Amino acid sequence: MAKYVYDFTEGNRNLKDLLGGKGANLAEMTNLGLPVPPGFTITTDACRHYLAEGDQPDGLEQEVAGHLDALEAAMGRKLGQADDPLLVSVRSGAKFSMPGMMETVLNIGLNDESVHGLAKQAGGNERFAWDSYRRLIQMFGKTVLGIDGDLFEEALDRLKGRRLDTDLSAGELQRLVETFKGIVRDQTGTDFPADPREQMRLAILAVFDSWNAPRAILYRRQERIPADLGTAVNVVAMVFGNVGNDSGTGVAFTRDPGSGHQGIYGDYLQNAQGEDVVAGIRNTIPLEELENIDKRSYDELLQIMETLENHYKDLCDIEFTIERGKLWMLQTRVGKRTAAAAFRIATQLVDQGLITLDEAVTRVTGDQLAQLMFPRFDAAAEKKKIAKGMNASPGAAVGKAVFSSARAVELAERGEDVILVRRETNPDDLAGMIAAKGILTSRGGKTSHAAVVARGMGKTCVCGAEELEVATGERRFTAPGGVVVSEGDVISIDGTSGEVYLGEVPVVASEVVEYFEGAEPDDELVKAVDRIMRHADEVRRLGVRANADTPEDAARARRFGARGIGLCRTEHMFLGERRQLVEDLVLAATDEERRQALDALEPLQKSDFAAIFRAMDGNPVTIRLIDPPLHEFLPDIVELSVRVATEEATDKDRKLLAAVKRLHEQNPMLGLRGVRLGLVIPGLFDMQVRAIAEAAKEVPGARPEIMIPLVATVQELEAVREESARILTEVGVEALIGTMIEVPRAALTAGQIAEAAEFFSFGTNDLTQMAWGFSRDDVEAAFFSQYLDLGIFGVSPFESLDRDGVGRLVAIAVREGRAARPDLHIGICGEHGGDPDSVHFCHEVGMDYVSCSPFRIPVARLEAGRAALTETDSDTR
Ligand code: ADP
Ligand code: MG
Ligand code: MG
Repeated sequence: MAKYVYDFTEGNRNLKDLLGGKGANLAEMTNLGLPVPPGFTITTDACRHYLAEGDQPDGLEQEVAGHLDALEAAMGRKLGQADDPLLVSVRSGAKFSMPGMMETVLNIGLNDESVHGLAKQAGGNERFAWDSYRRLIQMFGKTVLGIDGDLFEEALDRLKGRRLDTDLSAGELQRLVETFKGIVRDQTGTDFPADPREQMRLAILAVFDSWNAPRAILYRRQERIPADLGTAVNVVAMVFGNVGNDSGTGVAFTRDPGSGHQGIYGDYLQNAQGEDVVAGIRNTIPLEELENIDKRSYDELLQIMETLENHYKDLCDIEFTIERGKLWMLQTRVGKRTAAAAFRIATQLVDQGLITLDEAVTRVTGDQLAQLMFPRFDAAAEKKKIAKGMNASPGAAVGKAVFSSARAVELAERGEDVILVRRETNPDDLAGMIAAKGILTSRGGKTSHAAVVARGMGKTCVCGAEELEVATGERRFTAPGGVVVSEGDVISIDGTSGEVYLGEVPVVASEVVEYFEGAEPDDELVKAVDRIMRHADEVRRLGVRANADTPEDAARARRFGARGIGLCRTEHMFLGERRQLVEDLVLAATDEERRQALDALEPLQKSDFAAIFRAMDGNPVTIRLIDPPLHEFLPDIVELSVRVATEEATDKDRKLLAAVKRLHEQNPMLGLRGVRLGLVIPGLFDMQVRAIAEAAKEVPGARPEIMIPLVATVQELEAVREESARILTEVGVEALIGTMIEVPRAALTAGQIAEAAEFFSFGTNDLTQMAWGFSRDDVEAAFFSQYLDLGIFGVSPFESLDRDGVGRLVAIAVREGRAARPDLHIGICGEHGGDPDSVHFCHEVGMDYVSCSPFRIPVARLEAGRAALTETDSDTR
């Protein structure tokens, strides 16, 4: 028969899937011999069954009853027993911690009889007993019966007046219990359930149900936690921090989660229970002061914290309670930390001999490294914080507040820095979002339009700053405290913390970027980054290249650790003054005119390539032949039409207009571009290949690789390949000739294509567009935020490679390409090359390298190292 309940002595920390994080760690602490109150855990299997079937699985109630019997026997008292009651807490606890999202009920087992038994247990302490009872009704009423918690809070506040909760007498608390019972009766039409086992049963079901509470669903979506995990339920014998001043409750970290430094970090509250410490009902005291109150418990706590650190080999956070001088551990977990602390802690643990460098590399993430690379506000600067929203897209941005997209564009064109402030954004705001330094909204969460689009653009964004009243029409917003910000007033927003400041806060460059740029690692954080990056480079199997089109980008990419260019686009080389030549090419009426246009372009291209070869200094450079449709280089159709309608129009203008009309396409992304262009316009690719060859000949050590875009069938590639090979031989230069794999048909016929290609590079932007049938420019801003809200996907497939669909195409192409040509060199050059999860995918599928934008190179190096070290563990959270 299925087992749904585990005693704390049966579990361990590796059973998080089944027992949830809290249950697994309570079991781990129990088995370490730490003072944990006894209890048991109902598995996530049981929860999933209950949520799917609407009913508890067969046998669960009996199994729970059996474990409760055993708990009662061990404690020598029965749940809610009138003269000497056992009380329990019923606590939620999922695999991933979801702080404050789900429910916990304390003091289960109290009723009008057992409240007296509880007082007797505590040496006649009536006050404590009634305080516990009122807490039970309050928590049970809110959590299990779904009553508005404010009703209880208000009644409590009325009674307290200006006093503290600890000032209430036993008699007053007893009356409060009556008031609370009245609220329950009014709100539900029935009495507060007095039967202890019934209380427990209802609380367990309420915890199951809390998995699907709206706020829990929202939180999971934001944090990308799967929706189908379910929560475990922990039933724990109560211990009491609210018996008097020799009791209390607290929280602590084994080291500073901000800096990583070892020391004593925590808060303690005397005569209190459960959430009181974090709820801020009274002022807590720093944990150090516990030493003066109860030295024995304090020393024991420090000892336990050391045990936990040595055991988990990581920073832990803990919850504890002291009941009349006896310390109890109620929770521990590997604690959350800032990005900087993650790097510091990982290397500190290496120095302490607790973990290896291998392990240290797996303890930090590419996302954390990316966070450290953003500029940030000067911590020492004076700031006037006016609001806090969600940290939707990191970075620090300063500018004048503007309230419409049009105004943002207008001011930005004048060279001013602006922050676009909106209640929420919609696709019409796109131009303004592009023009702005940062985006601030008062509504919407981390999957709102503003957040999704800003992250996609790498732009700083704070969203859902609900304290702000945005009056778009009046071009101003108000913040708490009567602060009014009108159009043109300067504000500063911190996308890493979500904070909003009035005025200009000075921005400092990231010291981690300065280190990548070549500065000596001097401070502690940079030294930690340096150590971990070196080790990641040592262990990674994937090579890392850059997407870089200019010598400047190429040089930066090398400083950041790229060993080659995986994608050098050539289209920008046709912009500016050279547009003229492209126009000539398009308008060429004869072979002779076309040749002249191409001949004029060739030397320019040659010097472009030579500069990049020099910057890459002997590292390979993959050059993609021209990819976009030619009409992208021609003047705007509206502008041309206007010009042609006036007198001054030249003959060329008229011809250009005709050409623009002729070249117009309904779906340019699926039109005359890439290899199609190369085959249709004689001499275009030849000119580029010749320029590459001549440049390579001029720069000693140059290693060009020629890449043909948008190939769908081997015939296309063969045609270009033959010509290109001939030119290379003619000039006397060697270069690999390969292709992008970015059309689904190419992936599916990779075996044939590999016969003609010396390398593959996956263009996963196009491959994603075509595999999903999405036109990226149209769909991303239009409805991706809705798709995310609906849970159609957890993350945009343009941000993180879609393993199930696009990933399958990639895997097929790698397999069949290598089968046809075992030494086929394979990489990726879409934006996914710098996305952590996608890098792991590239490693797993057996690519040789990833290529990404220069700023993402350190992230790719680190994640490639992590991928090599966590081969089977795809859980990178
Ligand atoms: P959360 O997941 O929100 O932290 P918990 O289940 O940890 O919720 O419980 C909330 C509070 O109640 C915590 O401060 C915890 O220490 C306290 N608590 C839970 N169970 C017990 C117990 N058996 N005895 C005393 N305090 C408890
Ligand atoms: Mg807790
Ligand atoms: Mg492409």
